[in-house]
Amino acid sequence: MRNKLTVVGAGNVGANCAVWAAKKELGNIVLVDVAEGIPQGKGLDLSQAGPVEGYDVTISGANDYGPTANSDVVIITAGFPRQPGMSRDDLLLKNYEVIKSATEKAVAASPDCVIIVVTNPLDAMAQVAYMVSKFPRNRVIGMAGVLDSARFRTFIAMELQVSVENVTAVVLGGHGDTMVPLVRLSSVSGIPLTELIPADRLKAIVERTANGGAEIVKYLKTGSAYYAPAASAVEMAESILRDRKKVLPCSAYLEGEYGISGLYVGVPCKIGAGGIEKIYEIRLTDEETAALHKSSGAVKELVDVIKAKM
Ligand code: NAD
Repeated sequence: MRNKLTVVGAGNVGANCAVWAAKKELGNIVLVDVAEGIPQGKGLDLSQAGPVEGYDVTISGANDYGPTANSDVVIITAGFPRQPGMSRDDLLLKNYEVIKSATEKAVAASPDCVIIVVTNPLDAMAQVAYMVSKFPRNRVIGMAGVLDSARFRTFIAMELQVSVENVTAVVLGGHGDTMVPLVRLSSVSGIPLTELIPADRLKAIVERTANGGAEIVKYLKTGSAYYAPAASAVEMAESILRDRKKVLPCSAYLEGEYGISGLYVGVPCKIGAGGIEKIYEIRLTDEETAALHKSSGAVKELVDVIKAKM
């Protein structure tokens, strides 16, 4: 039997999740959105690309969760994107209500699914989905690190004019201006970045990565990035659905790892059929630990605001 993937929110990120997932034939896809006709129209349109692109899965759209029943993975992208001049955090309470209702309905239809949250502010929204779903922590994962490290890798490849395939990069922390790109553990075919790029250029690349989302918002003016975010969420879904056991930076609920408890923060995870199958706790320098704790402090502030409202 084919796998089933639900994408909640058929906007820019959600629709592109469906595109990447269809091209990879991850399973039958259901798009859900509150906007009448949008998920149905996009689903039909994308189905009609199948004969051209050569993928053979069904793609449908709905305004309710009936057709999503028994999904293996649910990607939640529903919500409002950042507008120019708006921080991810401004979105907090607006998107809290969206995630709460989307999670309740998705979980009622698919009690055994793995949830991947994309909606911003990411770590706080992943925590909302975790609290509302009452799922074990391995089945609620936030997407941010895959995108942040992809941005870091892209900028490094651009700087050195090398294949992006050879660049590996580690990014920890919350998805926000306080994310922690770990230069020390990033490399080009095993060659440490510090051997290849002067310190001032590395600093600039780290800053550009941390502001990678805002750079695109500034260009687009009416919305935020979606191709790379969608590809990143689908890489996680693929690792789950095909039990690839990829090691990916994901936002996970920490219970003491890295000295952090009761919060969603970006850390390296093994992603397989069980969702998060392992959280890797790597030894950090004092400086890196301080940056990670600063970043988790920023997530905690948002979560505290939400908890006061719950
Ligand atoms: P978009 O406006 O294009 O799409 C959002 C869709 O959600 C809309 O179609 C809207 O109708 C729908 N929606 C709203 N409330 C809903 C509900 N209750 N149930 C179902 N659908 C609902 O926005 P986008 O560009 O696709 O971005 C979506 C979210 O993803 C935003 O919060 C954005 O900030 C976030 N995002 C996160 C990352 C990341 O790295 N985690 C990257 C990019 C975007």
